[in-house]
Amino acid sequence: MTRILLLGGTTEATMLARLLAEAGVDGIFSYAGRTDKPMAQPLPTRVGGFGGVVGLVDYLRAERITHVVDATHPFAAQMSTHAVAACTESGVALAGLERPGWPQGEGDRWTHVADMSGAVAALPSDGARVFLAIGKQNLADFAAKPANFYLLRLVDPPTDPLPLPNAEAVIARGPFDMASDRQLLEHHAITHIVAKNSGGSGARAKLDAARALGLPVILIDRPHVPPRRVLDRPEAVMAWLDHSADLGV
Ligand code: NAP
Repeated sequence: MTRILLLGGTTEATMLARLLAEAGVDGIFSYAGRTDKPMAQPLPTRVGGFGGVVGLVDYLRAERITHVVDATHPFAAQMSTHAVAACTESGVALAGLERPGWPQGEGDRWTHVADMSGAVAALPSDGARVFLAIGKQNLADFAAKPANFYLLRLVDPPTDPLPLPNAEAVIARGPFDMASDRQLLEHHAITHIVAKNSGGSGARAKLDAARALGLPVILIDRPHVPPRRVLDRPEAVMAWLDHSADLGV
């Protein structure tokens, strides 16, 4: 019998959870636990790591999982790599639900970098006012350029002091829209934006605002994930699972 483990965290994971619940498919939703109040899901939900590949293999067996759908954030490469290894080892079917990255358009002033250290290196050493739209995990890397001002956008208020000497945090959860992101950039007199090439619509607003204001963007490329079956929409996952898909919206 089909039993899904849905690795979540993205808008697409939430959409798929709804489709699975509506179709009456047996499944478990899994969050990493990165935010204080994760969105409620219409499937039984667990929170937290599995304990590496070994822990995930044990979990797949104990829960009699037949299919894993990896709908984690495109930058959650460790989880995605573990899912490939664990599914291969345990013979469980795997699909990645992966939204396309953002393509560069006319008027975009983008510099592509491979990783966080590339983004740090691409910034001026002094005097830049940087919108650091990268979440909370890699902020300390930018302490290597302490003479810049950094504007952070975080889902939860920070519990520890910010690891940057000249920084301010706004607390907000997406999706965001272009008008308010433009206002944010103007209000803080931002000169540079650092972002991950996450794809999707809700996080794209800052790039549209940057284009409108003619601001340079340092865009971090997606990390490598081992080869796997990739599907680009929740409906395609449903078709893969051999269930009819209907978003109902
Ligand atoms: P990661 O570095 O790939 O994962 C680190 C560990 O977290 C994994 O090895 C796993 O622990 C656990 N984990 C991750 N996703 C999980 C899930 N859905 N269910 C259960 N355990 C999970 O991923 P990350 O730390 O979550 O994020 C990496 C990057 O993605 C960061 O740059 C972050 O800002 C960005 N991001 C992530 C999310 C998200 O929802 N995860 C959302 C927005 C942005 P075990 O090895 O113990 O199994």
